[in-house]
Amino acid sequence: MKKICILYTGGTIGMIRSEKGYVPNSEGFRNMLGQLWDLDNSEMPQWELVEFSPLLDSSDITVKEWNKMGQAIAERYNDYDGFVILHGTDTMAYSASALSFMLENLGKPVIFTGSQIPLCELRSDGRENIVNSLVIAASDKVHEVCLYFDGKLMRGNRTTKRSSDQFGAFESPNAALLAEAGIKIRYNEAVLRPASKRAFHLQEFQEIPIGVLKVFPGIQFELFESIMTEKLKGIVLETFGAGNIPSCNDSLLPIIKKAYESGTILTVCSQCLQGTVSLGAYATSKALQDIGAVNGKDMTTEAAVAKLYYLFSRCLEKEQIKEEMEMDLRGELSA
Ligand code: ASP
Repeated sequence: MKKICILYTGGTIGMIRSEKGYVPNSEGFRNMLGQLWDLDNSEMPQWELVEFSPLLDSSDITVKEWNKMGQAIAERYNDYDGFVILHGTDTMAYSASALSFMLENLGKPVIFTGSQIPLCELRSDGRENIVNSLVIAASDKVHEVCLYFDGKLMRGNRTTKRSSDQFGAFESPNAALLAEAGIKIRYNEAVLRPASKRAFHLQEFQEIPIGVLKVFPGIQFELFESIMTEKLKGIVLETFGAGNIPSCNDSLLPIIKKAYESGTILTVCSQCLQGTVSLGAYATSKALQDIGAVNGKDMTTEAAVAKLYYLFSRCLEKEQIKEEMEMDLRGELSA
């Protein structure tokens, strides 16, 4: 019988109402899981629960908690067939992206899930999300970091939160679903990643100073000049369309030049949910190409941020970081 470890980090799934609004609740979650009769079904894998302390709303998740999740998996890697991480939805796509890089040479499933309505409330989507995540984790089909929500299994580093109030909170705009759970769970064998044959390794992250800047019409780039110092290791620029920025505004170029000269790695992502960055396709992206910016291609901002943390934490040379940012390391971008 397969054995799955459930890591409970917090999030709506285990929250209760308080005077201040929903808050994580450390009491009673184990009992609540015990009352989900599906989890006792003979077709279910054996599972064990590890509760994090403190439990967090995922808005409070930082690099420290990513390392804690990575360590929890590394310590138990040989004891379980897979891992299900219960996590708040707000930053789940960031955490799933981070763990996809952090857990090197993965040979087992790590599935993030949570819910939009707490388990203790009427109409909670938590039960379905936990049950299917456990079944998928025990299926022997998946060997990567994924996110399961509302019937869909997605590659973790391809996801983004799309809705704050629908059950379908996530989408994978640039990559096919890994599986869909209807009456049967149908796996998309063509896109599932094989188990790594190399030894599993945890690459912890350092707290690297990085930033995200969203371009908008009328942006006064000079306001951001003060943050573009050598202290800033990397910046993800969320540009228009295929990687375009305002070109008639003379304040931008000196600033990105300054950033480049002081060693900041500039990664170009798009504000569009779907499609890819194509530097040089328009004159308005040529300047970024000339300056040596990284083409973020069809990576989500979440994946680009996590990848910058990962590559800087490996203490690589700047040129190698730039090269690997444009390479497909975990299925996070289309080659
Ligand atoms: N604020 C919550 C969290 O991210 C939202 C959720 O879990 O759905 O922890």
